[in-house]
Amino acid sequence: MQEMGFFTDTTLCIGCKACEVACKQWNQLPDDGFSLTGMSYDNTGTLGASTWRHVAFVERTEPLPGQGSPRDGIEAGAGAFAELRPLGQPAPTSLLHDVAPTHLADVPAALGPSQQALGKFSWLMMSDVCKHCERAGCLEACPTGAILRTEFGSVYIQPDVCNGCGYCVSACPFGVVDRREDDGRAWKCTLCYDRLEGGMVPACAKACPTASIQFGALEDLRERARGRVEQLRARGVAGARLYGESAASQPGTEGLHAFFLLCDRPEVYGLPPDPVVPTAKIVASWRAMATGVLSLAALALGAVLSARRA
Ligand code: SF4
Ligand code: SF4
Repeated sequence: MQEMGFFTDTTLCIGCKACEVACKQWNQLPDDGFSLTGMSYDNTGTLGASTWRHVAFVERTEPLPGQGSPRDGIEAGAGAFAELRPLGQPAPTSLLHDVAPTHLADVPAALGPSQQALGKFSWLMMSDVCKHCERAGCLEACPTGAILRTEFGSVYIQPDVCNGCGYCVSACPFGVVDRREDDGRAWKCTLCYDRLEGGMVPACAKACPTASIQFGALEDLRERARGRVEQLRARGVAGARLYGESAASQPGTEGLHAFFLLCDRPEVYGLPPDPVVPTAKIVASWRAMATGVLSLAALALGAVLSARRA
């Protein structure tokens, strides 16, 4: 079975949250109270036991080259996003395309496409999810065997085996796993294991109207992602980069099955710049401890021998 995963191109995300809703609907997850955080337009805030996809809204005080305005979308009409749909899905039929060109006259000049009109501001949006790490801290820390690697390469928690000890929560370098208040068991994205088994794509990728979330064979996704980075850099987005696409780029997790295209540093999106699975440090800790014990023993032996000679 081929290794499957997500490539999330954050530059295509429009913050519609269709992915969050689709995830909740398919997985029958409860709502989060629908209250705004007070810090942004986000109304879920973070990943959690009942939010397996979370769309982060990052307000950045500098413009993003190429980021347009509502007026740009209207002017682009039916061609909008056409070149950005690598999966060959049909372009969205609502949002931009139902707006008649005559409405252009009603769009205030302040919403024009120039960066000067937009001011020093840009939205960075990212649909976050479990990264399905190649070396998964949650899986290595689980003492009951509740967390396993599936035939698709994803990391899956078996709810009927989880005993709610919470070791996986502290072992995830991304803060993804969360326990439910009612039964204490741990929950996170399953990469829609049940849908994959039925030959379908995960619900979030299916619902995303802009192909910001792309699902497929990891090798294909990596190639597509590298091409997209080159395309963006050629258009002036100097900060375009991939996050976690391979073991070489992220040795602390040995690469992610859900990797991202970002256009700024990972910290700006709330992602750790150099995540390391905690269990990766265990061997080094034991080695350091053994070296310390041997040094102490050598010192003690030396002291005894010198005392005898004296
Ligand atoms: S360590 Fe965290 S991000 Fe990685 S697979 Fe486990 S829950 Fe997902
Ligand atoms: S990832 Fe797609 S579905 Fe999710 S908020 Fe962004 S555009 Fe909407």
